[in-house]
Formats: sequence, C-alpha cells, structure tokens
Amino acid sequence: MDIQTAGTGSTGNGSTGAGNTGRDGAGSAIAARMDRLAEVAVRVGLNLQRGQELVITAPLDAVPLVRRITEHAYRAGSSLVTAFYTDDESRLARFRHAPDEAFDIASGWLSDGIANAFRGNAARMAISGDDPSLLGAEDPDKVSRASRAASRANRPSLELITTFAINWNIVACATPAWARTVFPGVPEADAVARLWDAIFAASRIDGADPVADWAAHNDALASRGRSLNELDFASLHFQGPGTDLSVGLADGHLWAGGAERAANGIVCNPNIPTEEVFTTPHRLRVDGTVRSTKPLSYQGTLIEEIAVRFEAGRIVDAHAARGEHVLTRVLGTDDGASRLGEVALVPHSSPISQSGVLFQNTLFDENAASHIALGQAYTKCLRDAAGQDPDALAARGANTSLIHIDWMIGSGEVDVDGIARDGARTPLMRGGEWC
Ligand code: ZN
Ligand code: ZN
Repeated sequence: MDIQTAGTGSTGNGSTGAGNTGRDGAGSAIAARMDRLAEVAVRVGLNLQRGQELVITAPLDAVPLVRRITEHAYRAGSSLVTAFYTDDESRLARFRHAPDEAFDIASGWLSDGIANAFRGNAARMAISGDDPSLLGAEDPDKVSRASRAASRANRPSLELITTFAINWNIVACATPAWARTVFPGVPEADAVARLWDAIFAASRIDGADPVADWAAHNDALASRGRSLNELDFASLHFQGPGTDLSVGLADGHLWAGGAERAANGIVCNPNIPTEEVFTTPHRLRVDGTVRSTKPLSYQGTLIEEIAVRFEAGRIVDAHAARGEHVLTRVLGTDDGASRLGEVALVPHSSPISQSGVLFQNTLFDENAASHIALGQAYTKCLRDAAGQDPDALAARGANTSLIHIDWMIGSGEVDVDGIARDGARTPLMRGGEWC
C-alpha cells in the first residue's frame, strides 16, 4: 500500500490555477473523465460522510482535479474542504538558495495541525502527481536530510493514517512534469493526455457504473485476502531469476486488500488504483536473495536492478546496477530501514502491468507486480493489534522505520509458494499468475 508522504513536509498555500482543462475537444473529454475520477475518489475512495471535514494535499498543477473533488465533497455533505498545495519551483528554490542548516527542519506546526484535524475526524485526500525527477539533480545529502526531517514532522499525522484512525484516499492527477518524465520526447500536451488515459484506465472509472465496478473489484480482492487468512501461512517463498527468498510472516498476520474499515467506522479505498493483497512480514524472519524486476524511482533517482541478500530479516548485502549510492543511503536511514514492513502479491496480468507504462510513482508501479517494502509495517495487518504497545507488536514481527518504500520483485518468471507451519508447500503463483 502507498501512503505518499513525499512533498507534504514542504506544503504551502497556493492560490493560482494551473493545468490543462481547455474547452477544446480533447480538453473537455479529459474534463468529463476527471469529474468521474473525482466522484469515484469521494464516493469510493473516501466514502466521505455528511458533516465530515476533508483535508486535501496536492501539487499546484492538480488544481483542476482538486476543484472537481471539492465540489463532489460538498455535494456529499462535507462541512469544510481545506486544500494545501506544493509548488515544484518553490521546492527547487529551497534546495538552491536556502542555508545548509535549513535542511534539518520541517513545518511540524502544519503536520500537527493536520493531525489535529484527523483527530477531529477529518478525512484525508492526497493527490499524487509530483515530478518524479524534480530533485534528481539536487545534493543527495540535502534531499535525504529534508526527507528525514519531513518524516519526523509528519509522524503524528502519518500514524493516524497508517493505523486507519480515519478514512483516507490517494488518487492521481496527470501533471505536465510527471507526464514529461513518463513519456520523454513526447510533446507535452500529448504526454499529459497519454498519462491521463493510463490513470483513468488503471483507476477503473471508464465503465458505465464505476462505483459498481469498484464494489466488484473490492469483493474479488477481499475474497483473495480471506482465503490467504484461512491458509495462515508461516512464510512465503519467492523463486525466479536472481530470486530465492523466504519471507516469514508476522505472528497473527492479516492479509488486506481493496476496501478498509477505518477506526471511525467508515469503509474507504485508501489507494486508487489498487490491485494488491498485502500483509506484514516478520522483521526477523526473512532470508535469501532477491532481485528487483522493475526500476524503483526514489527522490529523483531511478534505482535499477537491485540485488540484495537477507539474513535473519536484515539486508546484509545490497547492490544496484544504477543508483546504488541512493539505495545505500536509504538502507542507512534507521534500524528498520533494512528490514521489511510489507509483502504484497499482484498478478503479472494486472491492468497496470499490462499497460507497460513505468509510472515512476509507487501508487501505480506497486500495482504492476508483487512487491516488498522496506521499513514501516502496517499494524492494520496484524490481528488484534489495537491497544498493543509497540514492544508487543515488534515481538510479533512488526517493523518500525521512518521510511516505507515498495519495490517490485514479481514478474511473469516468478513463482510464489505458501509454506505452512509444518513445512507443507502450497503453490500460490506460477509464472506470476494466481494458481
Ligand atoms: Zn503494497
Ligand atoms: Zn507499501
């Protein structure tokens, strides 16, 4: 699952409209589908309730989508919608002109305010659309310090999100900068139109009744999760080119996927799109080697052909054909950064995988292949976790870290077995497809 924290540490109010919603033919076709995406985000993604406040974070270029979402939110009875925007140029200005000591601070007061809104039952919507390559040319030390400061400042609100205290959703907007990165060399307007097409298709909003389509999709993911919960495996085994990995599962782990019931009782769809079922691995019980099957886009760098070896849950050897210095830095973030917080199964035939597009955005790319995530675990994926203290959760296998980074290890060449407590193997995936 994706929680999308990038950018929120440097949020600022924005008031300028931008983006591509011309009234010409192509523009109005996009505008109509954008309106449908906004409706699905509010009704399915958030399931926003009458009287509920909504806090939105978004890139400045997502203003047209934010306006559609705001209208649907008020029509659903929202009492107040508040949006915060990030601006790429302003973020770059900081890296180029701010004094060195400025990179260890973040606007904690803003994160605290947002956390307060969540405690008052406000829903959270994050619009994903940041330029994946924005910080690629900036000083990696400053990038990682700023990101660490933001992670620390965001901790209170992030905890309310990862523990599902409230209903929340992430949905995507095709911004020009993102589209240019995904479709290099394509004229900007075409690149934006192609990225919108890919987003609309992946977000399942093009059918006659998208709300009903989402209900059917949620049912399919829920029944997959239920059968994995009944099987209650001790571990999973991944086998493929460069991969021979045993992933022990946390004691009392629960598989999740699709819709989630938040602690405030509201059933929401945290990620649009989503194709995964996922659970919490045991932080001490991961062994073997694994190779990434798709590039990982992290803070402006594409990390390619990752190959790591785990011993007793910890990465003891890590290489990458490209971006190895960034990978090494990520693994050194804190104690939990070299251990796993999530394992997820996604069939190779997923619509996002079939689109062939490398989005360089976790919300999409993690739904194109089975994956693992370094860092923070979701306690939601542990039976009866509510009220347990952090030591008890850690003893059951839940990992803790400032980071949560998903990377893809599944493909049409990877098999997955479930291993029972008595060692019996059940084939789960062959050639990347469910058995
Ligand atoms: Zn995931
Ligand atoms: Zn994840």
